[in-house]
Amino acid sequence: MASRKPMVAGNWKMNGSVELITTMADTLKNASNNKIDVLIFPPFPLLSKALEADIVAGSQTVSHEDAGAFTGEVDAKLVFELGCKYTLVGHSERRSIYGESNDVVALKFEKAQENKLIPILCVGESETQREQGLTESVVAEQLNVVIDKLGVAALVNSVIAYEPVWAIGTGKTASPKQAQEVHKFIRNKIAALDMSIAENITLLYGGSVNDQNSELLFAQADIDGGLIGGASLKPDAFLSICNSA
Ligand code: PGA
Repeated sequence: MASRKPMVAGNWKMNGSVELITTMADTLKNASNNKIDVLIFPPFPLLSKALEADIVAGSQTVSHEDAGAFTGEVDAKLVFELGCKYTLVGHSERRSIYGESNDVVALKFEKAQENKLIPILCVGESETQREQGLTESVVAEQLNVVIDKLGVAALVNSVIAYEPVWAIGTGKTASPKQAQEVHKFIRNKIAALDMSIAENITLLYGGSVNDQNSELLFAQADIDGGLIGGASLKPDAFLSICNSA
């Protein structure tokens, strides 16, 4: 029987402030920290502040390149050196706004691990894809690209976040049943390759999670916590989400 530790991660996107880091650090002292992993993905300029304030922090993306002439890009090696443990890869906004393909996402996943960061791989279907019954095939393809390139063993030091694109920032959360179905699909898919990895991997749900719906979502058998956008900018709401995991 796997004993997966719940995780709640806040994705601040291009939001937040130095002041919010301080307030969040104070508020999170009240989280049941030993029982859950709580972490924040603030914008890059706030990463050191977050780490100095004893927040477990990670980057929202990393470059798939090594250090070099890549103006504006962020080296996974430096993110690790700074003291981060995690990075998001393949968030749907990176995919849709910045054109990151499944192949680039797989390269970023690899670069993160090469530099000792734990990638949180974001996957999920659009509204049209769901309506067309393509949810499972889209999610399977997003996972396959990583597994085919790096092998299933690469998932050992990783987290997967299922974030249906239609639920991100829209207030339209997937129902606990809808979310659980896809989480189960992901876990079964991994189990077909390696049972132990499947049982131990942390699977997060993301998409309009708030302090009203988190408890029911996190109660589902294959949902081990959440990746929280908007509500992670409100310290009290984020704390209650953490404490519901
Ligand atoms: P949301 O964002 O909670 O605001 O829907 C989630 C995410 O994009 O990770």
